[in-house]
Amino acid sequence: MNNLKLFMTIMSVVAAVSVVGCSTEAVQPEGNGTVVTVTEDAGAEGNGESIMENPAADTDIETDTDENGADVGVVADVSETETASESTEDDVSEQFYISPITDEIFARIEGKSFKADCTLSRDDLRYLHVLHKDLDGNVHEGEMIVNYHIAEDVLDILKQLYEADYPIEKIRLVDEYDADDEASMEDNNSSAFNFRFISHTTKVSKHGLGLAVDINTLYNPYTKVVDGERIVEPITGEPYLDRDADFPYKIDENDLCYKLFMEKGFEWGGAWKDRKDYQHFEIPTAQIAEWYPDN
Ligand SMILES: [Zn+2]
Repeated sequence: MNNLKLFMTIMSVVAAVSVVGCSTEAVQPEGNGTVVTVTEDAGAEGNGESIMENPAADTDIETDTDENGADVGVVADVSETETASESTEDDVSEQFYISPITDEIFARIEGKSFKADCTLSRDDLRYLHVLHKDLDGNVHEGEMIVNYHIAEDVLDILKQLYEADYPIEKIRLVDEYDADDEASMEDNNSSAFNFRFISHTTKVSKHGLGLAVDINTLYNPYTKVVDGERIVEPITGEPYLDRDADFPYKIDENDLCYKLFMEKGFEWGGAWKDRKDYQHFEIPTAQIAEWYPDN
């Protein structure tokens, strides 16, 4: 993100210099060194757009930004603000992309989520790069691996959640937790692909096919009663079993995340009767039978 912000800010400075029509003076004799100093200050404020919004001479830009970068935006000119937000939108869109599982990515998942007995082809998987926001609105880069059948839909969902400021704390490959689902969930990580068979079968689970997605896992645990005993996964998610309570990251049927997954034809584990899996969205079994008739 720092590189992105820095780039955007540099572009803003270049634009600002053109707008005020003093490019000759701006690039000399203070030159690039001065501009970079301004850029770094503005970037630290997290408000790189502000520089181009002040239609003042270059000396004013430097002074204002050095003193208080955030104040410059108050005197924004409408047309210039629009230009700034358009370029921001483009930069955001560039951060949402789908990639095949390159050798570099495969090296990160081999022997972890992509286990030695993985029956799924590497070509059936896609890598998603996204942005997401935490509860405080801080922007983070996210990575997720899903089945190619749902790659576009999941990317679109995550982009809409980002644009709506929907909080997702972490979107990291489960491989960063050595493919340990419990560890990933205790860390409130959101993820999808993790190869495994359904217990005591040769059937690959929906996460094993990359056709199920878990969101904000700590606050939306899985639970089932077995022989009178309640199982909770992650175990630290027990405080969030009370779905009438109010707490951050909670997924219910009024939730935007829920609605977007429903629109794309997913089912929600929170609607199940015999067990609850509030974090879990999956492709219906009938659809999977069409895509993977031998599974
Ligand atoms: Zn799940």
